[in-house]
Parts: sequence; structure tokens; C-alpha cells
Amino acid sequence: MKNYIGVNEWSIIEEGFNPHYNKVSESIFSLGNGRMGQRANFEETYTGDTLQGNYVAGVYYPDKTRVGWWKNGYPEYFAKVLNAANWIGINITIDGELLDLNTCEVSQFSRELNMKEGYLKRTFTAVTKQGKEVKVESVRFCSMVDDEAGAIRYTLIPVNFSGTLSIEPYIDGDVKNKDSNYDEKFWDEVKKGSFENGGFVQLRTKKTGFEVATGMQYAVTVEGNTITPEPQNIEKEKYIGAAFQMEAQQGQAITIYKYAANLSSQNHPAAELEPKLRETLQRISRKGFNTMLAEQAAAWAEKWKHNDIIIEGDAAAQQGIRFNIFQLNQTYTGEDDRLNIGPKGFTGEKYGGSTYWDTEAYCVPFYLATAPQKVTRNLLLYRYKQLGKAIENAQLLGFKDGAALYPMVTMDGTECHNEWEITFEEIHRNGAIAYAIFNYVRYTGDERYLTDYGLEVLIAIARFWAQRVNWSAAKQQYVMLGVTGPNEYENNINNNWYTNTLAAWCLQYTTEVIEKVKAADNGKYQELSSRIRFDEAAETSKWSDIVEKMHYPYDEQQQVFLQQDGYLDKEQVLVKDLPATDRPINQKWSWDRILRSCFIKQADVLQGIYFFEDRFDMDTIRRNFDFYEPRTVHESSLSPCVHAILAAKLGDEARAYEFYLRTSRLDLDDYNNDTEDGCHTTSMAGTWMAVVEGFGGMRVREDKLSFQPFLPAKWQSFSFHVGFRGALLNVKVSKAGVQITNASDQELTVLVYGKAHKLEADKETFIESN
Ligand code: BGC
Repeated sequence: MKNYIGVNEWSIIEEGFNPHYNKVSESIFSLGNGRMGQRANFEETYTGDTLQGNYVAGVYYPDKTRVGWWKNGYPEYFAKVLNAANWIGINITIDGELLDLNTCEVSQFSRELNMKEGYLKRTFTAVTKQGKEVKVESVRFCSMVDDEAGAIRYTLIPVNFSGTLSIEPYIDGDVKNKDSNYDEKFWDEVKKGSFENGGFVQLRTKKTGFEVATGMQYAVTVEGNTITPEPQNIEKEKYIGAAFQMEAQQGQAITIYKYAANLSSQNHPAAELEPKLRETLQRISRKGFNTMLAEQAAAWAEKWKHNDIIIEGDAAAQQGIRFNIFQLNQTYTGEDDRLNIGPKGFTGEKYGGSTYWDTEAYCVPFYLATAPQKVTRNLLLYRYKQLGKAIENAQLLGFKDGAALYPMVTMDGTECHNEWEITFEEIHRNGAIAYAIFNYVRYTGDERYLTDYGLEVLIAIARFWAQRVNWSAAKQQYVMLGVTGPNEYENNINNNWYTNTLAAWCLQYTTEVIEKVKAADNGKYQELSSRIRFDEAAETSKWSDIVEKMHYPYDEQQQVFLQQDGYLDKEQVLVKDLPATDRPINQKWSWDRILRSCFIKQADVLQGIYFFEDRFDMDTIRRNFDFYEPRTVHESSLSPCVHAILAAKLGDEARAYEFYLRTSRLDLDDYNNDTEDGCHTTSMAGTWMAVVEGFGGMRVREDKLSFQPFLPAKWQSFSFHVGFRGALLNVKVSKAGVQITNASDQELTVLVYGKAHKLEADKETFIESN
């Protein structure tokens, strides 16, 4: 746990340079715009400890796994989002000595990630070994408006000398992933070149053949007056630089504007990358840095209008929640249905930038409420488009007749993780994908989606479950063997309650959707049915048999759902009795010991109760919560939010707040000592859920938004924005009550504490506290 980030409601601030925290800060201060992103590396050379990272969404490499015991159906590779060309670099040499914060004396260092306007600013004073002092300010951003572009303004003032400066803006594609399995470099050079005040490098990924052209256009001013440098082009492998010298005068500001763009063959024909890149560079440099920055601020203002959360009375919590919302918006904008949300976004390499069930289970609720409908729809379409691969994936494992098993980890629909038990056996992700369809339709009312895309996915998933269960003659019930639930500290278990519950629900829901689609557009239904050779009568009757006779492990004595068969055979120990020195157990214990213990990594039974809460009465929820939470170590950042929401539902406000605190500043305070690998981006959506679904008690009930809010004792008030079926609401919860502003021209009826309230367009409605 660290505590070096300055508290500010709209900015993340670091004062003073601490090289030990540099990699943590590089993650926290990351930038992104959905299409590309980067860690907060320095523009000038830095020879200290750093993880250099630039990423282009959707551009990945299938890195062959290292495990030597391939099995049939085992994924061949672990896909990773590639470390791509560095476009921020500017080498500065002062009278022959490189400006490098690792070798200079540094003072007045500060970084600010301005979340309101979406830029990163860094200032410092450095003294070189020769005693030359310079003051530097850099501002940069990844443009939300021109999402293939970014810009930097780098200003340097010689403080105590006049002398020769050499300045070299460059593009460097000679990069590699830190986690490369065979220490390989993943890019080949296609071409490179220079042009007036600029240059580019075009690279192609090995195996996957993506091409990315990264280019720069620069301009230089002295005290605001443009000068025309005469650069010497520097060409190295996958590298292009433009080095020029200038006589710098003491006290005079030299500013380098560097405009950059990343164009990928995913979006442009490879042959056109170079001309299109040059067009983009010309266009943005003509627009100019200030205009781009103003547009950036306006784009962010628009985003905040739909998704800001305001907390009065707790500046640290305010900063924490805004940081989470900011990072989620930097990671995914919903413009492109081929893209998704890696657990670390663009902030690091871990988890390979791939798609996990995190998207459907955690991110979907956030985007549903805070972004236009098409954003979540694109997340669903991403899976729809990968249905063919999910069917192939299931076939590889021996399933047939159009059954689909979506991957646990994927880039393009192919399974690509490297741990059999955790990856393959976590088949519950299939259920989360079906649940997201249900959630989307419940929230938006877009039932047409079911006819056009949803049902096809649901049937394929239902077919998988129908084949994955087997009839147990001993139990006279259907059972599901050899799975891993969300709790990854149990592998290859039988009858995980969550997975069985979700599977049966999928079968039931798919049957209901069939009826809906038939009623809405029978022609389309018949067309789908014959295309996928769906034998409705036979298949659905098998499904209902499974729904009726599914085995759900239960303990009569404790009256709780059992996480899996035999869970109570384990020695029952509570987390509170674990010595602090044993935690986190995933770092202190052998895997063998973890698997034999009763400790739970993250919400499992409770995840199921969260998904299907309406099925359970309060006593059932309480009993299960009281049984499972004390056994949960919360060693996944996805865990506390589910607990916060359930604690809030149970009226335990203090605990709800406690769980919320565990993730709200997880990265800002480097709570788990792992932020240097990147931020926990997908769990940030969980933090948002803890506020809106936990403290705000927001649910969708019978086509209406419903709220059951309470105010955490430490706060004076909190408010959040949600969009719902064309209306935009601001819900403010204070000691006095709940004020809902309908900031749209559409009337809407909502439930607050169970009572209906008609919210007139453009009006505020006040409801007293319960
Ligand atoms: C969690 C998984 C999650 C993955 C990526 C793991 O630690 O246990 O549930 O999908 O991280 O965030």
C-alpha cells in the first residue's frame, strides 16, 4: 500500500520524483482513447527502472505457450496485445549530455493526470552532470476526437546557461513485450521514411500479419516563434528520428510540438497506410495542439455529463471513483465492435490485453448506464461475431451440433490462455455471455436484438450446457463434473453451484427467448432455426428436463448452497484466523495447499446470488453471505464489489462501505503492490457498481429503474448519472433524501424505495429518505 498520490477531485497528482514508484506511476498515469493507449513513460530518455508500453487496440500476437505438456484441445498460444511503436520519444542532449532523469539531479518534479480534460502533464527541473539546469514541461494526450492520433507539447527552458541543444523526436518500433515467452520480438519492419518535419515507421506483426504505420510530424518554436530546423535523419532498424541542433539562450523557451498517429491495417488497407498516415498527420498538425487540446476537453466534458459520480465530504473517495470512470472510458469507447476491454486496459501487458468474462459480468452494467446503448450493443456483437469460433472451440473439446463454448481468454474468438484447469474448466463464462444479453435487453428494452443476434448465441450456449451435463444414476439428477467456478482456488470440482445455476438459467431463458422471437418475427425465427438445424421440440424438451432435474448442492444443516460437492469436507477455517503473514495466500502458499483449503478467491456462490437475487428471500441471502464472506480472501479485485452490493442489500451499510473501499483506490494506493504491472481496469467497473447498485440500490424492475439508496456515514452526499431508455437522470442522495433530476426531454417513471415516481422532463423530483 502506498500513499504518494496527492488528493485532488479532478486530477491525479504526484509531487517529487521517486524512481522506486516510477513503474507504478507509469500505470496510474496511463493514457488511452479506446483505439490506442500508453503507459506514462517519459518523452526524453530514461535509463532507470521502467516498463515502456504503447498499445494499439486489437493488434496482438499469438505467443506460443511454454508449457511442455500439450493436450488435445489445449490452446496453442497465449495472445498478447503488443507493445507497439513508441511515438512519444524525444531525445534531448544538452551540450553533449543526454537529458535523463536517471542520471540528472531532479527537483520540482510533478505529474498530473487531468481527468476533467483528459491530458497528462509533467514538469521538472533537472541539472545535468555538467551543472546545466533546465526546466521542462510536457503535456500530452491520446485524442478522443481523432482516435488514431495523439499530441505532445514539450517545452524546455535553459535556466542557467546558453548552449547547444540537440533535439531528436523519433518513432521507435524496435520494442518488445516484457512477457514474451521466447524473448522474441514480434514486429518486422515493412518500411520507414522521412518527410518534411516528420517521419514514419510501418511494421508488420509476425504470424498475425497486422500492419501498423506510426508517424510523427513536429514543429518547433522559440519563445512562441516558429523556427525551421534542419534535421539530420536518423535511421535504424524499425526506427526513424530527426535530429537537429539549436543554440539555446538562457531563459528562452523552446517548444517541440509532436503530432503522432497510429494507423492499423485493421482499419485501412495495408497499401494505403502510408498515404493515410501522412494525411492524418497533416490534418492534425494543421489543426494545432491548442485546438486538439480544446477538443479533447470538450469530448471529456461530454463523457462526464453522462457518467460522473460526485461525492461530497470525501475527497479521496471522489478522486478514486473518478479515476475508475476515467480509466474505463480511456479503455473502451464502444465505437468498434471488434474491440473489447482487457483486464489491464492499455496500462500494462499482464493478462495480454485479451477479453475475459470480466466484460460481461462487470463492465456491461457500467456501460449500459453511462454510455449510449450502442456501446454495450457493440460488446455483445463482439461475441456474436465470434460465435463461429466458439462453436469450433467446443468441437475441439468433443461437443457437437452447434454447441458453443466461448473462450475464457481471447483476442479473436480463439481460446488462448495457458492453464487448463483455470481456463477450460471455467465454463461459467459461457453463462456470463448469455446473462449479458439478458441484462442488455432488460436495461434497454431492445428486444429486437434477440431476434437479430441474441437468440442464435443463446441457442448455441444452451446446446453446450445440454451436452456438458450428465445424468447421474446415483443422484437421479443432472450433474456437471470437472469445472472451475469463479473461485479459482478450487479446480476440477463437481457441481459448482454457481455454474449449475447459471447453466439451468441459460436453458430456461433461451426457451423464453424462443417464444418471444417467434412472436416478434416468426419468419426470422424459422430462417434461423433451419440454418442452425434446430430441432426445437426435441432440444427444448431436453433442456426443460435438465432445468427440472439439475443438481444444486445444498447443506441442510447450515441451510446454505454449497459451493460444490464436498465443500464441507474441507477443514473449515475463517479468513480472520489466518495469520497476516500468510496473506495473500496466492503469494505465500503452494498451489497444492490453496486447493486443499476452504478459502475462496472471489465471489462464487455469492456471484450467483447477485445475478439472480430476485429468486432468493433476504434470509437466504443473509445466510449465504454470512457463511461465504468470512471464507473469502478477495484475492481478485473483482470480488469486493459483489460483496458490497449484497451487504448493501442486506442493510449492512458499514460493511458495504468497507468492501467498496477495497477497490475504490486499489491502483491509486497500490493496495496489492501490483499496480506496476498495470491498473485493474475491469474491476474499476465493479467499483462503479458498488456505488450505483450498492449505495444507490439501482436495479431494473419490470422495465423501470428502481432505487433503494442509502448514504455512507462518511459522506455528505453522492450523486450519479444514469441513462435509461433515452432519459438522462442525475440521482443525488443526501441526508435529507433523494433528488432526481431528469435532464432530458423525456418523462420517466422510476421506483424509489419501492414507490413509483413520475419524473417530468427537465425537472427535479425530491423524495425524502426512507
Ligand atoms: C480472476 C478472474 C478474472 C481474471 C482477469 C483473475 O484473477 O480470478 O475472474 O477473469 O483475473 O481479470
